[in-house]
Amino acid sequence: MEYLPVFLRLGARPVVVVGGGQVALRKVAWLRRAGAHVTVVAPRLHPQLGEQAARGELEYIAAAFSPAHLAGAVAVVAATGDRTTNARVSRAACERGVPVNVVDDAELSSFIFPAIVDRSPIVVAVGSAGHAPVLARRVREQIEALLPERLGALARFMGARREAVRRALGAFARRGFWERIASGPVATLVLRGEGERAERALARELLTSRLTGLGEVYLIGAGPGDPDLLTLRALQLLQRADVILYDRLVSEAVLERARRDAQRIFVGKAYGAHGQQEHIHALLVRLAGEGKRVARLKGGDPFVFGRGGEEIEALAAHGIPYTVVPGITAALGAAAAAELPLTHRRLASSVSFVNGHAGDGALPDWRFFANPRHTVVVYMGVAQLPGIIARLRAAGAAPGHPVAIIERATLPGQRILRGTLGDITALTAAQPVQPPALLILGDVAAFAATDTGAALTAAAAAAGVPA
Ligand code: SAH
Repeated sequence: MEYLPVFLRLGARPVVVVGGGQVALRKVAWLRRAGAHVTVVAPRLHPQLGEQAARGELEYIAAAFSPAHLAGAVAVVAATGDRTTNARVSRAACERGVPVNVVDDAELSSFIFPAIVDRSPIVVAVGSAGHAPVLARRVREQIEALLPERLGALARFMGARREAVRRALGAFARRGFWERIASGPVATLVLRGEGERAERALARELLTSRLTGLGEVYLIGAGPGDPDLLTLRALQLLQRADVILYDRLVSEAVLERARRDAQRIFVGKAYGAHGQQEHIHALLVRLAGEGKRVARLKGGDPFVFGRGGEEIEALAAHGIPYTVVPGITAALGAAAAAELPLTHRRLASSVSFVNGHAGDGALPDWRFFANPRHTVVVYMGVAQLPGIIARLRAAGAAPGHPVAIIERATLPGQRILRGTLGDITALTAAQPVQPPALLILGDVAAFAATDTGAALTAAAAAAGVPA
């Protein structure tokens, strides 16, 4: 490490900025954000700095730099754009033992400004020791995207309650408690700006911690398979979980994104296997009861043919805290993968997600589904394909009614089959469909955005790219 990252408290202490241009303006902004008392030394001043000086927000010395300007300064920034002057500032500062930053010149600097993610009071600083500022900024952007917008509010919320929690819990219980607050429903509520509900949830959490030291459950949608389709919250909670209970449809690539030392338990038997769901409920309750953070990971979205509703009923019945994280349901993953819009101004203005496995009695009126202007996505339906075709035909659908089958959507080996009610049986006989697969029925199933090579050539020509 070439530099030690530290956080400097500037609160109302004097910092000198030499130079009054655009670059100085940026540095002054950061220094003032950190509460510094800024003096700008420069023959000329950027108009915005001039306004700040006029408002008394900074001091301005209209002069060329002289070492005497450094008297009393706790830090100096040289931003003159002129290397000779900058070098004089650097030398004068070093002689007086004042930390100095010369903008874009690590050699002349004794400290450098990092790229900053500001979620005050949480602040992340990224540095590259002057080697690659652009790369540091890129890393900053990536971190920026990972951190919730209201993280600062969460830190303040927690800070304001530290003392009360310190009085209520012992040191050991406290750590687990704060970890649960930071990653569980209370944090979610604060991050959503629901302060009052968060307050109540925290009080409840404090009570349970005092009574038992309960764990919690994250009910997470793992999406259709491609791990890049996980939500940021799913990633955060997967990184935090002690145990992961996962289904058959959760891909290995998604599991790899979980905490390395988390225990993995496979709970995915064939759909509806006898007693399996009750077994899962009991396991969730037991593990959370041991104080563990349990990630219940389900393919797609937990609330779309995922039995997520039953699981939170069981958790609520046992007073176990839980968080639900949505996932991209297979229909949406498959539609995007096949570039097949589920609704379209010309083709369809409504869509149904249907369980193809459900018995006849549980299914709605197929006359509605027989309308090709209504999109029907059938989950768990490939094995029932002949029955589904027969029902649609009986309800009035034409033999030309478009059908698409999307196999292993977003997964390696994804396959898309397109046909009609009339010919899809023959097509699937020729190329048997492997699970998991979805049926999409209706006019949108025949949709294809025409990509003529001519359009690309024209676009290239317009951009002046030689063919
Ligand atoms: N909760 C899940 C659905 C579970 S039901 C979700 O929201 O996606 C299981 C059915 O989902 C499978 O039978 C299949 O029809 C569909 N499915 C899940 N993943 C799929 C994928 N990657 N490609 C195609 N279909 C998928």
